[in-house]
Amino acid sequence: MFDRLADEYEQVVWCHDRPSGLRAIVAIHSTALGPALGGTRYYPYDSEDDALEDVLRLAQGMTYKSALAGLDLGGGKAVIIGDPAKDKSEALLRVYGRFIDSLGGRYLTAEDVGTTQADMDTIWRETRCVTGISPYLGGSGDPSTATAQGVWWAMRAVAGHLAGSSSADGDLDGAHVVISGVGKVGSALAGLLVGSGAKVSVCDTDRTAVARVVAALGVTAVNVDDAHTVDCDLFSPCALGASLNDTSVNELRARAVVGSANNQLAHPGVAATLAGRGVVYAPDFVVNAGGVIDIADGLTGYHPDRAAAAVSRIGATTLAVLTWAAERGTTTVTAAAELAEQRIAAVGSVPRLRTFPPPTGRR
Ligand code: NAD
Repeated sequence: MFDRLADEYEQVVWCHDRPSGLRAIVAIHSTALGPALGGTRYYPYDSEDDALEDVLRLAQGMTYKSALAGLDLGGGKAVIIGDPAKDKSEALLRVYGRFIDSLGGRYLTAEDVGTTQADMDTIWRETRCVTGISPYLGGSGDPSTATAQGVWWAMRAVAGHLAGSSSADGDLDGAHVVISGVGKVGSALAGLLVGSGAKVSVCDTDRTAVARVVAALGVTAVNVDDAHTVDCDLFSPCALGASLNDTSVNELRARAVVGSANNQLAHPGVAATLAGRGVVYAPDFVVNAGGVIDIADGLTGYHPDRAAAAVSRIGATTLAVLTWAAERGTTTVTAAAELAEQRIAAVGSVPRLRTFPPPTGRR
């Protein structure tokens, strides 16, 4: 097991409670920059091995996402093994909350696939190490609007980069953007783009979702199966992960890909294929950090203006990643990872200056 953690993970915790049926794994990848933040995924994994694999992969991703978002937070993630529709109960969530509390603030949890804001409110009754709770409890609420805002800032940076400018405030007026998936994030993004003068096309497997956005914003609907083949400036995956695979990237006719979906690349090699075809890829973990920035703000008493200002910096970070990749001839995914590692190494090793008495809350 230690070999499998490959010196990369600080702590992995198994949580078990027979009466409620809780079986959870918490993975803390890094606390170099601060407590490890990452959502709780509730999923009927085929095996415990699959659950472990998933939580380790997702925890590492959170370290990079928070580092690049400029947060004083590390990376972690938790998975609860089970079917949320059948197995979730108040007792299970409260026991889980107590396990999180027992980690003493090293891991902070939030909503993810299979868990809801209401679940976070239940967990909050047992621990303060949870964020993304309801506004009436003082939380930031649903982060989807902030995520959409972050994607929009990233798109502006990419538009600037495509126009050869060194400004992160590129112009989206007249740009053609195809959004695949108009759920919470995609529909909010469509609204922001229409407001910026972009020409927006949308698709979704859910026809009602498409009809709603078309009626509200006057955007154009395109076929869900070949939306990625539409000749456009920006293609924006805002549905499920792994939509960029060996076949679809070779059919892309967009100049750049900038979307909210997590884990857009079906495998790491797709980044090189995109670069080889001259398609600018803004890495998902840079682009979709608006949500984590928003809920991170909720940890210190949610302040919408402060959160929005932090989300707007996604534009400058995206431009820095694209510039780094262009200057070094690497893929943008490698560039983003290198920039994240650089911040973790530099800020994570800032020495703690000792004083007497020790500063409260820090050792
Ligand atoms: P959502 O469930 O509200 O919307 C997803 C939409 O995608 C749905 O309307 C669904 O019908 C559609 N869809 C499913 N399969 C599709 C397909 N093959 N082609 C086109 N459309 C399809 O989810 P969301 O909150 O809007 O999140 C969208 C993506 O962004 C997800 O990958 C999510 O993990 C990621 N993300 C979301 C947030 C957030 O704050 N909500 C933050 C970071 C990342």
